[in-house]
Amino acid sequence: MVRYVYDFTEGGRDMADLLGGKGSNLAEMTRLGLPVPPGFTVTSEACRAFLETGSEPAGLWEEVSAHLAGLEASAGRSLGQPDDPLLLSVRSGAKFSMPGMMETILDIGLNDDSVLGLAKVSGNERFAWDSYRRLVQMLGSTVMGVDSSRFERSLALLKDLRGVQDDVHLTASDLAELVETYKNLIHLETGDHFPQSPAEQLRRAILAVFESWNGERARLYRRREHIADDLGTAVNVQRMVFGNLGADSGSGVAFTRDPATGRSGLYGDYLPDAQGEDVVAGIRNTVPLAELKRLDARSYDGLRTHMRTLERHYRDLCDIEFTIERGTLWMLQTRVGKRTAEAAFVLAAELADEGLITPDEALARVSGEGLARLMFPRFDASATGTALAHGVPASPGAAVGTVVFDSAQAVRRAAAGEKVVLVRQETTPDDLPGMIAAQAVLTSRGGKTSHAAVVARGMGKVCVCGAEELTVDTEARRFTAADGTVVEEGTVVSVDGSAGAVYAGSVPLVDSAVIRYLEDGRGGGGSQGVDVVDAVARALARADTVRRLEVRANADTPEDAVRARRFGAQGIGLCRTEHMFLGDRRKLVEQMILAGTDAERDRALADLLPLQRRDFVGILEAMDGLPVTIRLLDPPLHEFLPDHTELAVRIATAQARGEEPDAHDVALLGAVNRMHEENPMLGLRGVRLGLVVPGLVAMQVRAIGEAVTERLSAGGAPQAEIMVPLVGDVRELRLVRAEVQRVLAEISRAAGVVLDCPVGTMIELPRAALTAGRIAEEAEFFSFGTNDLTQTTWGFSRDDVEAEFFSAYLDKGVFSTSPFEALDREGVGRLVNIAVAEGRATRPDLKIGVCGEHGGDPDSVHFFHTAGLDYVSCSPFRVPVARLEAGRAALE
Ligand code: PEP
Ligand code: MG
Repeated sequence: MVRYVYDFTEGGRDMADLLGGKGSNLAEMTRLGLPVPPGFTVTSEACRAFLETGSEPAGLWEEVSAHLAGLEASAGRSLGQPDDPLLLSVRSGAKFSMPGMMETILDIGLNDDSVLGLAKVSGNERFAWDSYRRLVQMLGSTVMGVDSSRFERSLALLKDLRGVQDDVHLTASDLAELVETYKNLIHLETGDHFPQSPAEQLRRAILAVFESWNGERARLYRRREHIADDLGTAVNVQRMVFGNLGADSGSGVAFTRDPATGRSGLYGDYLPDAQGEDVVAGIRNTVPLAELKRLDARSYDGLRTHMRTLERHYRDLCDIEFTIERGTLWMLQTRVGKRTAEAAFVLAAELADEGLITPDEALARVSGEGLARLMFPRFDASATGTALAHGVPASPGAAVGTVVFDSAQAVRRAAAGEKVVLVRQETTPDDLPGMIAAQAVLTSRGGKTSHAAVVARGMGKVCVCGAEELTVDTEARRFTAADGTVVEEGTVVSVDGSAGAVYAGSVPLVDSAVIRYLEDGRGGGGSQGVDVVDAVARALARADTVRRLEVRANADTPEDAVRARRFGAQGIGLCRTEHMFLGDRRKLVEQMILAGTDAERDRALADLLPLQRRDFVGILEAMDGLPVTIRLLDPPLHEFLPDHTELAVRIATAQARGEEPDAHDVALLGAVNRMHEENPMLGLRGVRLGLVVPGLVAMQVRAIGEAVTERLSAGGAPQAEIMVPLVGDVRELRLVRAEVQRVLAEISRAAGVVLDCPVGTMIELPRAALTAGRIAEEAEFFSFGTNDLTQTTWGFSRDDVEAEFFSAYLDKGVFSTSPFEALDREGVGRLVNIAVAEGRATRPDLKIGVCGEHGGDPDSVHFFHTAGLDYVSCSPFRVPVARLEAGRAALE
């Protein structure tokens, strides 16, 4: 026989699956000997059985009745006893807290008779009738289905009639009259009478709470919080205690530490002569908890003692609800309290110092997500107004600046000392200087892995992308918000990259002390105080001790490499070489593409060579002694050519004026037309470029080899690794690798040095993952390019889908997080596992890492740890996050 009901004396905190969070904690407090009003919990299993069959599970009521009899015996009076009624509360309590999402029914046991008994024993007639009218209202709406606004309307009407503002000014006889009105209303609406039988009230209340699990509010909340729909809720039935019996009564909430900062102290609110609901509802002003000491010293001391007991027992910050009934303190709820990121770090460090938890437990209690939040300057939450627009929160943090619409303008204004926000429909590599100059980047198109997002995150720059409700008109230099607000160039806006929101005007910022510490090792002094910095430092140190995964950075400039190193990177996992082909060098790339003869092409490549070599020398120097994985050129070459329309317009304008169009323009337009691709992401890029553009691989490898030689002769310890992108078949890699080795051997011979540059490949196509055993024959290392691997596995264009339809997919529950953000373990993860297993079967010492955006995502880091990777590589600003999560993963 399944058992559906547990007395508070029978449960415990480890029974949350069955008894829910509230029920298991009430049981725990009862076991600890704290003053908890007696009661029992109906299990979530009973709820599930009810929801499955639509009817009360067999035997449930008998069990409830037996536990009720126990309650009555210990109280010495029965439920709804006419002269001195025992009254009960019925509250929901699921495994995970769902505040306010389900039903609560108080004062069960009151009826036309017992209300008189309650009036007599309490000596407070008004209190008795107010309790009764609350019950009729709650039961009437939740159990009998009358719209609660009907009750509210009756109440408002009565207040009007009596000429009073507040409920408290209604007299006992007013409230008695209201009860009659409510009962008539119920009869009118349902054809049924308000149940006078206390047992029936209880029975129907329990079932109504079960049903509220599937209420609209509750479902919506679960979807947003990723709580499973099939858990069901437990129901707690408990003796009522009253905080609204006069000045010697009251209700309050308390935290054992400050949930905002984690520091010790006294935090909470108290409301004299009130029930718990009134405290949260904010009907009257509460007083600080410290004030209770003056009002009722004995209850205050008792509360302090219980708070200490709970914190030591739970070894964590607890939040508590309590009621004082005529000078007697009752504990009504406790749970491990929610906290800010700052409080989580500080609290973990302090509890470890106090010996309540181990350093490993302290590490488990903080998170990379929290750390990321602490690293960015943020807006003062009290000062944000209505948002102009919402988009994808692509790179967190807060920034204020004047709006500009192109890169050149951004650079110009920034050079003059102005803070700017670069607004584009979407960004391209051409916008890089402007992005560097700007405080934030805002785009109306693209998702979390769009160019704007990836680059901004790499730079630790605030970014909101895919704000589709904005119409960006770069020509007219303005954007228009959904409500018609027009924002011209030069207007100040505030961009919240953590929330994905844009505000008009300047919202004040709060500085991050953590980032100052990570940048220069100095702590404290900021608005977050010295403690949070110290706490972060300790969590990171612990993570570094226990983690197995190495953490590298994605960086392609010496400056980024230096910063990444300061942030704790153990090398570069991805140095993208594409930006090295922009700016002044673009002319050379054009020459290479337009070359009519081998000699012309070789000249262009020869001009690029010393520039590339200088790039690599700088990066190898910044990362001296640590591995630097340099990826050969990846994007399609037409990305380096001017825009088709721009060229066509230039030529047509010249022709219209009767002039001869510029020959170079004409040649370029020819090349652009020739190289046009419908799906450039699936076109001539990656290793394919290396195989069809003569001399390109050789030039890049020569630049790398010569840079290594130069660093060696300068006494450095360069560790370059050469990585081939977008390989799908071992034969592609074999061909490129032969070329790489030929060039390296040549340099080696000429310079008389041994060049030890491992050659490896990205695994970023499903075919590469599925044939990894073969590919490992030619690869000394693998690095998962999970951006492209996600794109090609799902068939999702990484530049389009997030803004286009991901919100619909999220709403419909196709997935709960974008697969471009958290690795899709089931699909893409399976390919990763296959590639790891088959790659290592061929080459047991194969070094394997990941350099897609997922390398810095907390959940994905845990996956990569379990999958047996050697390292993750992410943008410099994610390095501390990845270190922390790699440590936490190792503890699991
Ligand atoms: C990837 O595809 O995951 C990757 C790192 O390469 P890119 O983002 O440059 O395509
Ligand atoms: Mg890629």
